[in-house]
Amino acid sequence: MFILWGWGKQTRKVVGTVGSRMCNYCNVQSLWQLCIVRTWFTLFFIPIIPYAKSYQISCPNCKSYLALSKEQFEELKARLESGANVPAVANAGKYAGKTETQINYLKAMEEADRKE
Ligand SMILES: [Zn+2]
Repeated sequence: MFILWGWGKQTRKVVGTVGSRMCNYCNVQSLWQLCIVRTWFTLFFIPIIPYAKSYQISCPNCKSYLALSKEQFEELKARLESGANVPAVANAGKYAGKTETQINYLKAMEEADRKE
C-alpha cells in the first residue's frame, strides 16, 4: 500500500469585492475580489491541514493578483463590513510583493517626508 500525499494545493475564499480597478495584465476594468488563500497539506488529493494563509486582491477576469499584508486585508475587510466604499485599493497595491520589513521602512520614509 502506498500513501499519496502532497503539499501546495491552494484554495481561495472570496470575502467580497473591493471596488473597481483597472487590471495591468488584461486591461479590463472590473470589481476586484478580496480573497483569503490557504495552502494545504493533502492526502489522496483531499485537503487535510492548512499550513499557510495569505491575502490578496485579485482580478476576476484573468486571476492576476496583488498580495496584501494581514493589516491591509483586515482594513479592507473592516471597510467592507461597515458598508463603506473601499477606495483603499490603489493604496493596497503600493506595497504589493514587499516584505513586512520593507513596508515598515517605506512607511517610515513617508512619515519622514511628511514632517519636513
Ligand atoms: Zn485582469
